[in-house]
Amino acid sequence: MEPQTDLNDDDRRFLTRCVDLAREALDAGDEPFGSVLVDADGRELFADRNRVAGGDHTRHPEFEIARWAADHLTPQQRAETVVFTSGEHCPMCSAAHAWVGLGRIVYASSSQQLSAWHKDWGLAPGPVLPLPVQDVAPGIEVAGPDPELSTQVRNLHARLHGVDA
Ligand SMILES: [Zn+2]
Repeated sequence: MEPQTDLNDDDRRFLTRCVDLAREALDAGDEPFGSVLVDADGRELFADRNRVAGGDHTRHPEFEIARWAADHLTPQQRAETVVFTSGEHCPMCSAAHAWVGLGRIVYASSSQQLSAWHKDWGLAPGPVLPLPVQDVAPGIEVAGPDPELSTQVRNLHARLHGVDA
């Protein structure tokens, strides 16, 4: 079961920014993922995109966000943040998010969707199971996917793999 899609206009604005970052990553020769950390007042604190092209496959934006938050925010501030992301956290990033004590996660596309796209395109599964955030970090509130933005994400991944979207 996918979590409920209950996104508002502010959510979609930040998710659109994440999809733009994912596109920026793809244009730079990286995998199309982008994420934004937002505080309790709706201010963007930190944003990043995937940086695995250099060979370090832990360089996911959600992991960078967890590190940045641990260095810059109090535990109370971290708990009040929202992390927006073009694609749902992988298990590594879900764990980092939970260990650092960040708040809600809102994603444009789910791990289940990404796995289904890869399967449709005949790609081999990756080395890490595509577990939903809540299978790794059950205390984290999640929302997504967004029907329209997930289609945009799908198109970026199709471009990455050279297949027709
Ligand atoms: Zn990750």
